[in-house]
Amino acid sequence: MKYKIETNFNNNYNKYQCTIIFVNKKYNNPTNIYNNIINEQINKYKFIKKKYNIHKIKSNINKNQDIFLIEYNKKKLKYNILKILITKSLKIIKKKKYKNIIFLINNLNDKKLNWKLFNIIHITENLIYKYLTFKTKKKKILNKNIYFETDKINILKYKKIINNSKIISSGINKTKNLCNTPPNICNSNYILNKTYKYIIGKNTKISYLNEKKMKKLSMNAYLSVNKASSNEIKMIKIKYNNNKNKKPLILIGKGLTFDSGGLSIKSSLNMHEMKYDMSGAAVVWGIMYIINKLKLKLNIIGILCCAENMINHNSTRPGDVIKSLSGKTIEIINTDAEGRLVLCDTLTYIKKYNPSTVITIATLTGACLIALGNNISGLISNNNKLAKKLIKSGKKTKDIIWQLPLYKKYNKYLQSNIADIKNCSNSNYAGTITSACFLNFFTEKYKWAHIDIAGTAWNKNGATGRTVYLIIKFITKYIKKNK
Ligand SMILES: [Zn+2]
Repeated sequence: MKYKIETNFNNNYNKYQCTIIFVNKKYNNPTNIYNNIINEQINKYKFIKKKYNIHKIKSNINKNQDIFLIEYNKKKLKYNILKILITKSLKIIKKKKYKNIIFLINNLNDKKLNWKLFNIIHITENLIYKYLTFKTKKKKILNKNIYFETDKINILKYKKIINNSKIISSGINKTKNLCNTPPNICNSNYILNKTYKYIIGKNTKISYLNEKKMKKLSMNAYLSVNKASSNEIKMIKIKYNNNKNKKPLILIGKGLTFDSGGLSIKSSLNMHEMKYDMSGAAVVWGIMYIINKLKLKLNIIGILCCAENMINHNSTRPGDVIKSLSGKTIEIINTDAEGRLVLCDTLTYIKKYNPSTVITIATLTGACLIALGNNISGLISNNNKLAKKLIKSGKKTKDIIWQLPLYKKYNKYLQSNIADIKNCSNSNYAGTITSACFLNFFTEKYKWAHIDIAGTAWNKNGATGRTVYLIIKFITKYIKKNK
C-alpha cells in the first residue's frame, strides 16, 4: 500500500473513488474540513446503534465515487475496535475500481489523530501480509493509494508518523518473511546474507563468528548444537552505535534454523514447524532493521545465534559433558534443550562489551506454551524494574508478556552428579523457569531479561513477528530517554 496525506480534500474531491468515514453517535463531529456534501451525508445518517454497520452512499457530484460510513457503537475507539473497522474497510477497498481511497478520520476526536494514523497503517500492513515466495500462481497483495485527510499546519509531523509506522510494519513483515522461509533455504548463511542486504547504514557494522573462530574461543556449548549439521554455524553480530558515550543494550536471539531435537529426537507431529526455532534471531534482526532505518540515537548490539540441530554420527549425545566458554561444565541430558546451549556461550561472550542491559529472545521451551498458551509470551528477569518496563511496552503494543519468577530454589533441578550443571531438568515441572535458571547460571552482573516466544512466534497462519514492536517501544520509551 502507499500512504499519503491530503490537506486539500475539498478541491481534490474528484480524485477519490472511495471515501471511508468511521462514525460514532457520541463522537461523530463533522468539521468544516470536510466538504458540505460529506457533512450533509453524515448529518443525514441515522445511527442504528448496531455494533458495526456499513452504510453506502452514492455521491451525487461524482458518479465514480462511493462513500462508506462505518458506524461503530462503542464508547471509545480502542485498538481492537480500530482493527475491526480496518478489517471491514479492507473488504470494501478490495474492489478493482477503487484506486485512490481516502480515510476521513479527523472527525473522531476521541483519540489523537497521531495514534489513528500510526495504527491504521500498522494494522493494515499486518492484515494484508502474505508469504507467497513459493506459490507459482501468485495471488496479489493488496496495493492501493491510501490517503488520510489532515490539516496543513502539522503536515511534517504527520508525514513522520506515517513514515515511522511504515518502517516498523516493514520490519515486522520482513521478520515474518525470514521466519516463514523453509529450512532448506533459510540457514545461517542465508540469514547473514539478508543482514548484509537489508541492514546497511553508517552507524551499523556487521560481523560474525564462524566455526573456526568459535573453536579458537572454546565456545563448545554453542558448537555442540551444530555438530551434525551440514550447514555452517554463524554467530552474527549487528552493532549499531549512534550514541558513543553509552554502554550498549544487547539483544540476543536464538536462531535454530531447524531443530530436529538431535538424538533426543522430536515426534514427527508438527516437526515441520521447527523451522520457526530461529524466530528469536529473526525478531532481533527485525528490531535492528527498524533501528537502523529510524536512525535512533542509541548504542545497541543485536546478536543472532544461528545453528541447526540435526542428527548424524557426529551428533552430541545425551550423557556428553561439554566445557562452555565460561569454563563451567555442562552435562547434556536432552539434546533437544539446545537453545540454552547457544545462548549460554553468547551470554558469556558479550561480557566484553560491558552491556547496560541484556535481553534474550527465544523459542525456548514447550513448557511456556503449556503455561501461558499461544497468546502470551513468557518473561523472566533478574531485575524487576526492567521486567516492569517490558510488560508496560507489551501492553502499549498489544503484545502481552507475563512474568514468571526466577526462582533460585529450582536450581536444584539442574544439579548434575558429574558436571557443574545439567542442560535440562529430569522433571516435567516448571520447564520455562528452569530454562531461565540455566541461563542465569551464565549471566554476569548485568541487568538481564529473557522473553520466551515458543508459544507466540507463530500460529497456524505462519510467523507472527511478535515482540518486534514491543522491544522497539521499550527502546524508544526507556532507553532513548534514559529513564
Ligand atoms: Zn530443541
